Amino acid sequence: LLSLRGVRKQYGENVVLDGFDLEVDAGECVVLIGASGSGKSTLLRCVNLLETVDDGVIELAGADITDPRADADKVRSGIGIVFQAYNLFPHLTVLDNITLAPIRVHRVPRATARTRAMEMLERVGLADKASAKPDELSGGQQQRAAIARAMVNSPQLMLLDEVTSALDPELVGEVLDLLRELKAEGMTMLVCTHEMAFARDVADQVCFLHHGRPLEIGPPAQVLDNPREARTQEFLRRVS
Ligand code: ATP
Ligand code: MG
Repeated sequence: LLSLRGVRKQYGENVVLDGFDLEVDAGECVVLIGASGSGKSTLLRCVNLLETVDDGVIELAGADITDPRADADKVRSGIGIVFQAYNLFPHLTVLDNITLAPIRVHRVPRATARTRAMEMLERVGLADKASAKPDELSGGQQQRAAIARAMVNSPQLMLLDEVTSALDPELVGEVLDLLRELKAEGMTMLVCTHEMAFARDVADQVCFLHHGRPLEIGPPAQVLDNPREARTQEFLRRVS
């Protein structure tokens, strides 16, 4: 579904992605791990066209999205993205947060957008919070609402960047459980996380980033439990 070939991105002299190759099949969950600054978030931002790549090709469902003629809005509407924090607009209710883009950007009729949003809130267990403001929700509930918002367009691909990092430990589980369910339903996901237990449990492939390249990639049983590369071993010792 998603294919990166030779993707290169640099900020000034700082080469962040140095000829990056990655294949994500439909329905797969690929987890990106690597040291802080290794380029995980940059990679997700390139896929969502929040950054332009300096070289290489990114294909989504066979279409080259890095082609300057690609319609960035259309590409983004097929991709759901959730970040670590500050996902929701604080002045809008949970329901309005979810219907905002469908109504304003995608011209979905208001009633249709609200019905669809309520289905998504039901889905993430937050139907009773539809008219609450984000600051009336726990961190875990806010992230579940943010995931509902990212899902409301029925994206082909979900990008999740450290979505549990800002949460209190007791709230991490409810968000990871939701991601497990999405995966079980066949959602394709590219996930940056420090939750090695989640990676081990849900990932089809784990990709260890080092110096802007996928240094080691394979099933969790290989990369996490039996890494070939000394760099991967060193990283895992530090985070475990
Ligand atoms: P973390 O685990 O801390 O989230 P990361 O792997 O997500 O790290 P990135 O955020 O992708 O790392 O950053 C990779 C490198 O790119 C870093 O050296 C960072 O300083 C640099 N960088 C990221 N965004 C920008 C930007 N907008 N302008 C300049 N440099 C940037
Ligand atoms: Mg990051």
